[in-house]
Amino acid sequence: MQGRIHGNEPYGLDGILSVLKSLATSGAKQWRQIREEFTVHFIPVYNPDGSEMNIRHTILWDRATDTPRLDANGNQQRIDLNRDWAPTAFVARESLAWYEYWTMVKPAYALDIHHQGLKRDRDTGEAITFSLGISLAPGGPTLPGIQDGEYDVLTRQMQSHVWLETKDYGFIGIDKYDVGYGTVIDIRGGVVSAMMLGLDYGGLNHTGHSNPAVFFETSGNTSDGSIGHKARGKFVRQNVLGMTAWLDGLADGSVFEVDPDIWHDQIPGTPVLRYFTDWGGIIPAE
Ligand SMILES: [Zn+2]
Repeated sequence: MQGRIHGNEPYGLDGILSVLKSLATSGAKQWRQIREEFTVHFIPVYNPDGSEMNIRHTILWDRATDTPRLDANGNQQRIDLNRDWAPTAFVARESLAWYEYWTMVKPAYALDIHHQGLKRDRDTGEAITFSLGISLAPGGPTLPGIQDGEYDVLTRQMQSHVWLETKDYGFIGIDKYDVGYGTVIDIRGGVVSAMMLGLDYGGLNHTGHSNPAVFFETSGNTSDGSIGHKARGKFVRQNVLGMTAWLDGLADGSVFEVDPDIWHDQIPGTPVLRYFTDWGGIIPAE
């Protein structure tokens, strides 16, 4: 479970701390079962320097001069850590550190916590506070080809389970993540995508480990001003509820019983008209 890869997205950290407390101290049956079934690894703050600066990226640093490293145009080298797990990437040392950790742990499942901009339901106008994401589009150009389509089903089951468990809380408005009407992502260079693709960088994953992975997006970046601040308690809480549902459903096996078609048929979201990719531009869904 990974939080705050983008430094200006704090609720991954806040939610993880709450889940950690329950995991470590709760005597409830649910948490006992999670402890019995799993060893849970947390990265509360993937991007500590970006978090300290409250910016999305990290800044590459020249240790000799103790100043930011500059590119050929004299600009600071800012790295989006969520685009840095790719065959020609791993520019930042955080990326290689967490990638090596992943190859040592070889997790069975992964969850990544983010924030997005403010969002409203396009039909009802109601605030969307929580978007459920799969970084390689279900039924899209990439995911159905991984592990004979197993992850295409499992990722939809995980998110459908989270939706079923959280949709009736009045303060959470849920949909599927998109990057504009009709457009969903198929990003191969993101961390959780690289996990699903079983990326082998530098021979560290020579056994070809891979695992299904999903992400959550809370609406309201810290740059959106007071909205995120005023609603902070609710926004952290929705992440805690989502993370708990995800863990609990995997531990008691209920995730695997969920109808994966709930993803397409029931969870609100845009129709899929095109894929926004980092490997082939914009690709029509047909
Ligand atoms: Zn993010």
